[in-house]
Amino acid sequence: MVKIDIRNLCAEYTDKKGTFLALKDVSFDVKNGEFVSVIGSSGCGKSTLLGVLQGLKFPSAGEAAIDGKPITGPGADRSVVFQNYSLFPWMSARSNISFAVKQVRKGLTRAQRNEIAQRYLSKVGLSDFGQKYPSQLSGGMQQRVAIARALAMDTDILLMDEPFGAIDAKNRSGMQELLLSLWEGDDTREKKTVVFVTHDIDEAIFLSDRIVMLSNSPGSVYKIMEIPFGRPRNHPQIIKTDAYHKLRDELFSLFYHNVGENIGGNEVVI
Ligand code: ADP
Repeated sequence: MVKIDIRNLCAEYTDKKGTFLALKDVSFDVKNGEFVSVIGSSGCGKSTLLGVLQGLKFPSAGEAAIDGKPITGPGADRSVVFQNYSLFPWMSARSNISFAVKQVRKGLTRAQRNEIAQRYLSKVGLSDFGQKYPSQLSGGMQQRVAIARALAMDTDILLMDEPFGAIDAKNRSGMQELLLSLWEGDDTREKKTVVFVTHDIDEAIFLSDRIVMLSNSPGSVYKIMEIPFGRPRNHPQIIKTDAYHKLRDELFSLFYHNVGENIGGNEVVI
């Protein structure tokens, strides 16, 4: 069943210099419980697309809908994880989670919210850090709190904008595995539908069911690819397979072809 339906979506920005088209005719869907990554070079409109799905940016044409209803604003059906952790600095890790849970899950007592917060802190390996403030935690720990917070909110949809972008390569793969184990691991309820923005092709292959590659200026869908690996995924095993290397080569070659075609072969940041 389709959870998120994006049809001929256009989005633009207007400033003193005029109107700039950031997304043009973007169409794809995300099925219930699917993990879709959106990749593309810097400035191709990935965050704009996520802004539309958050309900903070409105289409200039076309539409984005959830469960068949056009998105008209932020909703309790979506939680978001950004690159910059976005925890409230004046709240402890546990209060950050408990407060977010309060916003979307009405009718819970403070004790119930705290119990949920503590449960999710332990899922991300931070059960002893609930009383700490963000400034007392490393960047990776703060991001684990942000992930715990998003999952504790128990929304149908998880929107992630380069959540591991500020994390070094060594810890990044651990974070990817943690995210997947939390997303895959809970058999007691339906999987979250995830839209994950990244500019890291390897990350997208490891995490996703499908990858949507955007082209640049204005952003539009260049290619949609299925990832053929089953779940649960084992990273060390996957990277030993020929299928992985073939897919990776294809994606890199498409990426550079795409970028070259659209911005004239300039150097790109990926
Ligand atoms: P990405 O996330 O892929 O890096 P963005 O969605 O942030 O791309 O930006 C897409 C394009 O829209 C870029 O050219 C960017 O400069 C432009 N843009 C983004 N936000 C604004 C804004 N608030 N005002 C004007 N232009 C913007």
